[in-house]
Amino acid sequence: MNQTLGVAVVKKASVKDVRRRNRALILRHVWLNSPTSRSEVGAATGLSAATVTNVMTELLAEGAVREGGFLESDGGRRRAIVSVAEDAALVVGADVGETRIGVKIFDLAFRPLAARDYPIKGRRIGVAEARAAIDAQVVSMLDELGTGSSRVLGLGLGVPGIVQDQLVHAEVVGWHGADFSGFGDELGIPVYIDNGAKSTTQAEMWYGAARGVEHGVMVLVGEGAGAGIITDGRLYRGYSSSAGEWGHTKISLDGPHCRCGRTGCVETFVGASALLDQWRGPDETWLGRETEGVEAILRAWRDGDPAAQRAIDAVVRHLGLALSNLVNLYNPQKIIVGGWFGDRLAAESLPSMQAAVRQFALDQPGGEVVLARSQLGPDAAVLGAATLPISRLIEDGAGAERLRSSPH
Ligand SMILES: [Zn+2]
Repeated sequence: MNQTLGVAVVKKASVKDVRRRNRALILRHVWLNSPTSRSEVGAATGLSAATVTNVMTELLAEGAVREGGFLESDGGRRRAIVSVAEDAALVVGADVGETRIGVKIFDLAFRPLAARDYPIKGRRIGVAEARAAIDAQVVSMLDELGTGSSRVLGLGLGVPGIVQDQLVHAEVVGWHGADFSGFGDELGIPVYIDNGAKSTTQAEMWYGAARGVEHGVMVLVGEGAGAGIITDGRLYRGYSSSAGEWGHTKISLDGPHCRCGRTGCVETFVGASALLDQWRGPDETWLGRETEGVEAILRAWRDGDPAAQRAIDAVVRHLGLALSNLVNLYNPQKIIVGGWFGDRLAAESLPSMQAAVRQFALDQPGGEVVLARSQLGPDAAVLGAATLPISRLIEDGAGAERLRSSPH
């Protein structure tokens, strides 16, 4: 083997890697702190002024950021404003939830420009129907905005279950290796897919309750339950991306039957149906009326109804128990409770949840962890999906050629 050639190749790759890493550091800072300035970028990233200048020249040419206007600093020095070029492209977020597919188009500063909802009846939707529905909504929104798909940087898709490349394994909605390859080709838009709990957690990391959290967990509780785990400021994925399937960890050897085909899963103890079944028994059906049912039990609870009290206590204690396992495993500084039902329950009883976590977790990590409500609420899922293409643009420049002021 030619050693000189070997060394040269290694050196070239590492210079490229450093450039990519610096570009990602700077672009990420601008995205999450816009408007900012070159000196703030330098201070936050620890990069030299020369490196910031080099990378900024590249980014300005690429079109993702712009410079213009001035910020007055404390010392009276004026610093040029660096911000996201919000109109350089559009981005689409689509999230396959429990009862609907939400689709939104945003500008690059995540201001929503158009939105659509597609109802999922009976909690099941075929992959072909889901793909067609999203296609149709995107076409209709682009029409509404009077623009074409070439202006779209990318479409981020949040789905339930485990994502491996273009295949989605979501037993709970009947997807066993549902194939999303080629999705987006007809639209002419690059598609990026991730688990919805992970993308929702990313939205809270960028703009919500998980901002600045280095070690945390976000749990999403609706009918089912999922989690996004933040470790060292990044989403933890595991060997094949299935990390965070907390809703199907077991807290009982038997217990109620789960949608995944097993028994004893966390979601059968803490989901909205678990609460309603506890209250009125499993014979009363709430399918399609879960939100209504949850509001009814909360009213009964406030009126002092003992059955409502018992049911809510049981769900809060089981949730505390299931969260305490996450505390012992991951030692989070913060747990964010979200999802439509989790958020509703947290609004009423966050202190009881915190007390239950303290009771069941080991003293040291249980005493440190703080529970909080999600800040972005139900909008986090679609927004989180829309962060996927931006994340790729930041990390490796994917889609940069689609930016309007791009020289390509
Ligand atoms: Zn399960």
